[in-house]
Amino acid sequence: KKMGLNELRKQFLDFFESKEHYIRKSYSLVPENDKSLLLINAGMAPLKNYFMGIDTPPKKRMATCQKCIRTGDIENVGKTARHATFFEMLGNFSFGDYFKNESIQWGWEFVTKYLNLPADKLWVSVYEEDYEAYEIWNKKIGISHEKIVKLGKDDNFWEIGIGPCGPCSEIYYDRGEKYGCGSPNCKPGCDCDRYIEFWNHVFTQFDKDENGNYNSLPNPNIDTGMGLERIACIIQDVDSIFEIDTIKHILDKVVDISGKKYGKNEKIDISIRIITDHIRSVTFMVCDGIMPSNEGRGYVLRRLLRRAARHGKLIGIEGAFLNRLVDSVIEVSGEAYPELIERQEYINKVIAIEEERFQETIDQGSEILKGYINELKEKNEKILLGKNAFKLYDTYGFPLELTKEILEEENMIVDEDGFKVEMEKQRERARNARQNNEGEGWKEDIYTKLDESIKSEFKGYEEYTMPSKI
Ligand code: ATP
Ligand code: MG
Ligand code: MG
Ligand code: MG
Repeated sequence: KKMGLNELRKQFLDFFESKEHYIRKSYSLVPENDKSLLLINAGMAPLKNYFMGIDTPPKKRMATCQKCIRTGDIENVGKTARHATFFEMLGNFSFGDYFKNESIQWGWEFVTKYLNLPADKLWVSVYEEDYEAYEIWNKKIGISHEKIVKLGKDDNFWEIGIGPCGPCSEIYYDRGEKYGCGSPNCKPGCDCDRYIEFWNHVFTQFDKDENGNYNSLPNPNIDTGMGLERIACIIQDVDSIFEIDTIKHILDKVVDISGKKYGKNEKIDISIRIITDHIRSVTFMVCDGIMPSNEGRGYVLRRLLRRAARHGKLIGIEGAFLNRLVDSVIEVSGEAYPELIERQEYINKVIAIEEERFQETIDQGSEILKGYINELKEKNEKILLGKNAFKLYDTYGFPLELTKEILEEENMIVDEDGFKVEMEKQRERARNARQNNEGEGWKEDIYTKLDESIKSEFKGYEEYTMPSKI
């Protein structure tokens, strides 16, 4: 029997516990005291202050399985085998303790001895100037030259502005020709799904200063990230992360609700995968206290939820359906994240209300957009007026990205500057209304529909999500 995702997570954490790492449960998706980030997107993100030396870690070695959201990958979701907007990142970290040698050797040990991945299918990449990492892979681990790929700064050097940064080294698994793009240049780093990157080791050994100098850190750090769904996909030997045990359970439910067959029509399959992915993101985000809104995190949540709702429409699902998927997500993730079970009813409610609200206008909005598209076609034009995109946003709840996506199918775009102008006008009106105390800026709050017990539970939760002190 192939190892399940939940078991894999445990294997990883147990392994690093045996290497004297402090194991901590996932931090919230909502960054704490960090204005630079909307949502946690990597295992190291909530640990930044430990890496920067601002806070002292509980131990110099740590390992986590961190909930992550990457909306930057949204276009890939459902199309590649390996991208999700929500995923779990396994990571081991060293705060000025061990470095490259241990990180690489333990990584290799875990993958080949514990997970029993065949060494001949494994490839690695290093940063082109990182001779040290190259030597470790080649001499200590015994990887042949052909299977160590040197990548440039874009791929294998981690830095954000100034501060700690350094080269990376990634481990890839060759899934075979049938997943390849067919190009003779196809190798690790290629965009296709043949050589699947699953574990990135970042060697934070420099401190970049204002003048662009890379100064060596006296105590370099280790930050690694391994996609749990990706390693599960490899171990379970399935086509994509959507077919691994846990996610498949949710996908099956989507298929069931849609009454469609999976694997018969690529377009329908993509929609099914998008819904499957987005409901995971949405469930976890609501659980971490994010509410749908028109700004910031709330907007990301709204956009994901509405995008999923629209794909439901596209494949013929009638009426609201997303909240019926929440239970499937919790069935497979509730054990690892008990907060999901604690908040199950609440999550269901928030999602049901938001979807219901969108359902009321989605048909009308779609019709109106169709009208705009036809007008543009008649005039032989390709750019939707910002004012019209704003109307869809403001009156019919279409996130701008949704409108853009639908237009894209027709090779059309939105005048985004025009959209911004309308948005600014709207903000101005709201500001004036508040100043004049007309109260016009306050629309009916949909969440007044939430019953009192749930609302008070939510308030309690705001406190509950505050960082659990280590
Ligand atoms: P890719 O090149 O495939 O987009 P990445 O280089 O952007 O991946 P990293 O930033 O190095 O990914 O993140 C560390 C690990 O997290 C990756 O090696 C991968 O296993 C996993 N990962 C990254 N993005 C995603 C995603 N969108 N969905 C699932 N897993 C992901
Ligand atoms: Mg990426
Ligand atoms: Mg990559
Ligand atoms: Mg990477």
